[in-house]
Amino acid sequence: MAKLTTFEAGYCTHLACMAQKGAGFHICKFPARAWLIEVGNKRWLWDTGYADYFYQSTQSGIFKLYRKLTPVYLQEQEALKGQFLSLGIELSSIDGVILSHFHGDHIAGIRDFSCSHFICSGEGWKKLRTLRGFKALKQGFVPELMPEDFEERLIFLESFEETPLPQELWPFTVGYVLPESQKQVLIVPLPGHACGHIGAFVQTDHGWTLLASDAAWTPANYLQLQGPSKLAHLVMESPLLYYQTLQKLHQLARNPQITICLSHEGYL
Ligand SMILES: [Zn+2]
Repeated sequence: MAKLTTFEAGYCTHLACMAQKGAGFHICKFPARAWLIEVGNKRWLWDTGYADYFYQSTQSGIFKLYRKLTPVYLQEQEALKGQFLSLGIELSSIDGVILSHFHGDHIAGIRDFSCSHFICSGEGWKKLRTLRGFKALKQGFVPELMPEDFEERLIFLESFEETPLPQELWPFTVGYVLPESQKQVLIVPLPGHACGHIGAFVQTDHGWTLLASDAAWTPANYLQLQGPSKLAHLVMESPLLYYQTLQKLHQLARNPQITICLSHEGYL
């Protein structure tokens, strides 16, 4: 079965009520998580969390606003590159970096993985790839974070085999099989939060885990359908689709065998 290892690479701070209506006006930490997925001798990374590149690419111009809105805290050794090196994980051993979406806190470290393929939603990337300046910022996309050869190393998940999902994953019914994952990693669109936002069901020894990325920011979002602040709607691709996705997570969570992991489950 697949092995999943959770990493945290920095965090940002927000008001608690941004992530969950009624949670109060105190400032909370929202960690930026990434996951190492291993099947046999294959390794993929799900997002990268923050890295120094985020500071470099948001230090001037309009993108300075990005770090004003989400103040970022990252010690040098906390970037994934440093964590991997200290664990003896060669960066070149990562076959593919899967991008759940293109927000800075998910892709900031991709330049460190110069030997890996990138996997993402083609539909999402096509909407973002030409955006610059304010239009890019509005989508939480910092073009400077992308390696120059990004598109040469890019594989769209829409090219993967589609498969019906096991009944226990209802209401999710169809997914994309990550090649060479022995059908243990099945990628699903989770639309609403951002362009091309995706999640993945990973079959581990403990059952299926859904890496749900930013489809919710706290378990209460989907367990009690207590959504984020209306202010958060301003940065969503589609609030309507976001709440449809949240409803699906709500139904999925009724199955106690399924684990749902959020990228930023905060400390409210
Ligand atoms: Zn996001």
